[in-house]
Amino acid sequence: MNLKEYRQKRDFEETPEPGGELSSTVGSRFVVQRHQARHLHYDFRLEMGGLLKSWAVPKGVPLEPGVKRLAIQVEDHPIEYIDFAGVIPEGQYGAGTVEIWDKGSFRLNREEPDHLEFTLSGEKLSGDYVLIHTDSKNWLLIKRKPGTG
Ligand code: MN
Repeated sequence: MNLKEYRQKRDFEETPEPGGELSSTVGSRFVVQRHQARHLHYDFRLEMGGLLKSWAVPKGVPLEPGVKRLAIQVEDHPIEYIDFAGVIPEGQYGAGTVEIWDKGSFRLNREEPDHLEFTLSGEKLSGDYVLIHTDSKNWLLIKRKPGTG
């Protein structure tokens, strides 16, 4: 895990996004950023291993149990990105407006390379979720029904 791809995609003279460094802090925060780029999507990020593991979710993180959403894994982001909101200028990677849609903490219940289970505690999002890797960059983000273990 590193920030090489994140940095290669961005010109930090032009974008207000953080350059960032690998963090040695251990945390368990999450954020969902509403990103009005060329296509509206929601960026879902989990603080793991000194970075933000990140997925772009075109239809947003599900609020209702049983709902499945496509989540496309994107490059790891620096921890500081968890607080980022602002305007990425025209011509820059991800040009558009980023707003924090929800944030909070999570508890990791199961961690395998292709399978994550966690419980979110945010303002809008709460409950048990699963992320399942399907193919290439594609994952499914599912809100579990309560009591389904
Ligand atoms: Mn995005």
